[in-house]
Amino acid sequence: MARVIAIANQKGGVGKTTTAINLAACLAAADLKTLLVDVDPQANATSGLGIRVPEGSPTIYEVLVDGTDLIDTLRRTELDSLRVAPASYELVGAELELVNDERRAFHLRRALAGVRDDFDYVVLDSPPSLGILTVNALSVADSVIVPIQCEYLALEGLSRMLQTLDRVRDSLSPPLKLEGILRAMVDSRMNLTRQVAADVRAHFPGQVFEAEVPRNVRLGEAPSFGQPIILYDLRSSGARAYLNLMREVVRNGKKGTRARA
Ligand code: ATP
Ligand code: MG
Repeated sequence: MARVIAIANQKGGVGKTTTAINLAACLAAADLKTLLVDVDPQANATSGLGIRVPEGSPTIYEVLVDGTDLIDTLRRTELDSLRVAPASYELVGAELELVNDERRAFHLRRALAGVRDDFDYVVLDSPPSLGILTVNALSVADSVIVPIQCEYLALEGLSRMLQTLDRVRDSLSPPLKLEGILRAMVDSRMNLTRQVAADVRAHFPGQVFEAEVPRNVRLGEAPSFGQPIILYDLRSSGARAYLNLMREVVRNGKKGTRARA
């Protein structure tokens, strides 16, 4: 039965998609059967892995709104053990289309029930908001990774995000755990970033991944070549960081996830 991990932060541009793509790819490279589900209308995880969905083929939009079988959306990737359930821009409409649907928070949970046995890991990329798409991801997830950008006021934003997770957990999915806070886009040349990275660990002991992701040009370039970093440039600092993150996640899984969100 797969472990389902959502990548979420309501703040935009903090490295959610980069983390979703590269964690999923590193898990697959470790021979773990992995499914990446793109739950964001921007579809950056889909395009970042070089996937173009042919006109008329179903995506997560049809899965959530029409009840299409998730299996019918799956795409192969360059990595044998990695499949993607792609998103499309139509997903922006899902919020409105589901507004009167009492089960609207649970469509992804229903859809994944049919494939959880086929994978070791399911990674969910979510949009920068706490609308119905993110709520669908959090409702099916066993745990959540919160990437943060180590910058001014990062701690304030993080506390708000963790409070929100608490509320979601209380109302929707009792078993949701905090897999960990991930310090992303760490610029070691900037004192401020270093200081924030240290502060985050001090404020949230035991809840922050050892692994941190440096600002790395190669990580920024890889999506435009449709490749995860381990295929684009295995020797980059970004690849090393995401391999470290993958190892920590796998270790967590073996010993049961750390503190609750
Ligand atoms: P959104 O909230 O819009 O979905 P996001 O949280 O998913 O954004 P990403 O798309 O992962 O954030 O990253 C934002 C931009 O920064 C992208 O262009 C990405 O390629 C780049 N980027 C992410 N992480 C790094 C990094 N560690 N080093 C350099 N560039 C990065
Ligand atoms: Mg994104």
